[in-house]
Amino acid sequence: MKAFAYVNAANEKDAIAALGPDRGKFLPLAGGMDLLGLMKDYILQPDRLVNVKNLDKTIARTSDGGLRIGAAVTLTDLVEHADAARMYPALVQAAAEVGTPQIRNAGTVGGNLNQRPRCWYFRNEEFDCLKKGGSRCFAVDGENQYHAIFGEGPCHIVHPSSLAVPAIALGAQFRVVGPAGERDVKAEDYFVMPDRNLFGETVLAPNELLTHMILPAPGSAKSATYEVRYKQSHDWPLATASVALDVNGSTIRGARIVMGAVAPIPWRSQAAEQALAGKPLSEETAMAAADAAVNGAKPMSGNKYKVPIARTAVKRAIMKAGGLKGNWW
Ligand SMILES: Cc1cc2nc3c(=O)[nH]c(=O)nc-3n(C[C@H](O)[C@H](O)[C@H](O)COP(=O)(O)OP(=O)(O)OC[C@H]3O[C@@H](n4cnc5c(N)ncnc54)[C@H](O)[C@@H]3O)c2cc1C
Ligand code: SF4
Repeated sequence: MKAFAYVNAANEKDAIAALGPDRGKFLPLAGGMDLLGLMKDYILQPDRLVNVKNLDKTIARTSDGGLRIGAAVTLTDLVEHADAARMYPALVQAAAEVGTPQIRNAGTVGGNLNQRPRCWYFRNEEFDCLKKGGSRCFAVDGENQYHAIFGEGPCHIVHPSSLAVPAIALGAQFRVVGPAGERDVKAEDYFVMPDRNLFGETVLAPNELLTHMILPAPGSAKSATYEVRYKQSHDWPLATASVALDVNGSTIRGARIVMGAVAPIPWRSQAAEQALAGKPLSEETAMAAADAAVNGAKPMSGNKYKVPIARTAVKRAIMKAGGLKGNWW
């Protein structure tokens, strides 16, 4: 690992002051579950790490009945928070599935949302791919079984954060703080496609930090996340879906449906949402929405299998949120 300086920032203000405008030179360090691996593999070689574990570690009610979750809250603390579990099942179910207990004990909400892609070409210093300033994406003609089925490149990563998917389904905002002050960004506008930012995955500038996830009051929304993994592996999901349903009696008034591990950003499907709106909450409706969600997928040579898996994740997430029994296939 290349030698680096270390700043133990006492608070948000000190952390911002210790970061800088040059991409990759000054990096925030939270639990280190992702960043230290990237440094040991020589993928990132920052001059300075800025400890951000002293950012807000609390989960607090907002004045409008929602929750504000600090970036330094660990995934374990989120999973064990009774209000979060009751109000936002989709978020807590996703957090509970991340990695292993050890990873959830160290990994933070801010680090999870800002973790870098797992594409094996990106993670291997021998491959100078588009994302690292090279001239080609090796996944196009290479090993692409875990890559995107939506989005059409030019980089075909899937977004790695499990929390990002329910954050969008639940209508979260992210608070971003930088030298110019703070701003709130809708979760669905935070993650950006490679044609907008090839060298990063978000709208965050190098000298900004994500400090909070702010969730609106859930009202009567029913939410759930369903992930499909290799057996019970602690590895990232092959496909996942988070849904938030606004249900009146047995009729779905509206829905937000987001798939994960299928595109460079969490992939919201308005076609699936329209397939649910005004319809009865039933297995048939869930299946129709799941079909709509994967309609238009363009798998690569090695990942056609992800299309039915993503469809199943959407169907099961709707059935789980709605408390439906029946055929989960
Ligand atoms: C075996 C294994 C399995 C895993 N499975 C999953 C999984 O299923 N789902 C999943 O989502 N993740 C999974 N992970 C990834 C893990 O959850 C993340 O690495 C972890 O959550 C990152 O959090 P951290 O606090 O350790 O971040 P760090 O490693 O400290 O930081 C990660 C990145 O975020 C940046 N960063 C940190 N905090 C902030 C902030 N406040 N504002 C802006 N940028 C920030 C850092 O600079 C760095 O680039 C897995 C990891 C492993 C090793
Ligand atoms: S998918 Fe993206 S990160 Fe992976 S090889 Fe292609 S350009 Fe690089």
